[in-house]
Amino acid sequence: MSIINIKDVQIKTLAERIVLAIREIAGPGPAALHEPSFAGNEWLYLKECLDSTFVSSVGKFVDRFESDLAMFTGAKYAISVVNGTAALHIALKLAGVKANDEVLIPALTFVASANAVTYCNAIPHFVDSENETLGVNVSKLRDYLISHTEQRAGCCINLTSGRVIRALVPTHVFGHPADLDGLLAIAHDFNINLIEDAAESLGSYYHDQHTGTFGLLGVLSFNGNKTITTGGGGAILTNNLALARHAKHLTTTAKLPHLWEYYHDEIGYNYRLPNLNAALGCAQLEQLPSILSAKRELFIKYQNVFAKIEGITLMAEPAQSYSNYWLQTLLLDSNLIVKRDEILQATNDSGYMTRPAWILLNKLESFKQYPRMNLETALLLSKCLINIPSSPGLNKNNG
Ligand SMILES: *Cc1c(COP(=O)(O)O)cnc(C)c1O
Repeated sequence: MSIINIKDVQIKTLAERIVLAIREIAGPGPAALHEPSFAGNEWLYLKECLDSTFVSSVGKFVDRFESDLAMFTGAKYAISVVNGTAALHIALKLAGVKANDEVLIPALTFVASANAVTYCNAIPHFVDSENETLGVNVSKLRDYLISHTEQRAGCCINLTSGRVIRALVPTHVFGHPADLDGLLAIAHDFNINLIEDAAESLGSYYHDQHTGTFGLLGVLSFNGNKTITTGGGGAILTNNLALARHAKHLTTTAKLPHLWEYYHDEIGYNYRLPNLNAALGCAQLEQLPSILSAKRELFIKYQNVFAKIEGITLMAEPAQSYSNYWLQTLLLDSNLIVKRDEILQATNDSGYMTRPAWILLNKLESFKQYPRMNLETALLLSKCLINIPSSPGLNKNNG
């Protein structure tokens, strides 16, 4: 039965029609935004950890998880850590970000990026987004850097603040790859280190290459709401052996290997992923291909129902990319932005968890004093975007 006939169109509000469209795909609900599923070897591997007593900071699952991740993403090296935010913190340090440096990050991203920059006593500098990818607006950023920076001794200097712009950290928002060719060219032309925040894009590819493997470093997250989970967890990806070794060293308290001495040759961090969490990660990675195909099928099903509702668009992967479709995203036409909160209310009241985009980071009290370019597209996107239930398991509920 089709949910929309002429009579429905006349009597239902937009919010009601969206609830019906989600129900047609997700079943009667309730449905979370993104739930993990443990359909494989999770219990087996966790039991193996407990039986072996290797539950903590070393163990065979940590090594295996890191090599499985490198294999899956095509990165030469993967270093597992406690969460994605810790991965960002270490990636920034490895990229040479020091006190008073500036780091370019999108205003439209999760707060972790800006937090990690401030952990380095550096300064987030907010850049605008584009509609095509939801990621950094490359042409606008290039124009901005041309008019606001100059090169001095191989560094990009912000002419307004006099500070070095050391790194650029684009996010692959909701799993959709950003314009990586454009970002790599900016990094090259302006001498800025590129770190990809691929926390949301495990299983997403740009020109057939996995996201997170283009920049000097890339960062993944395995939080409970991500495509796969380790409970909490993250990873640093790189193709550079020296950086990989330093990443492992810094995240394991900077201890020099020795049978009994505890000698630490710099200030390190206890950021290592416990073996228990890595065991979960190994089991989850085995299922990643089927999770990805279920998420893609869910997108196609949603596309069919939302095509019938005028004024809203379901975000599709950018042309040159293959997206993991981590979070399905509705974009409201600008004249319907006034209806956003009504839609959020109706869907959540009906048991379908939906949420708007993040509040732009430059609007948060902690970050409002930091530099930024004109952010008009990010602002518009933050008002017109709604994430809808996206769990891979939803696909099986109905039809
Ligand atoms: C989830 C996420 C992170 C941080 O990951 P945690 O594991 O939650 O610390 C960073 N950036 C983005 C864009 C994310 O979505």
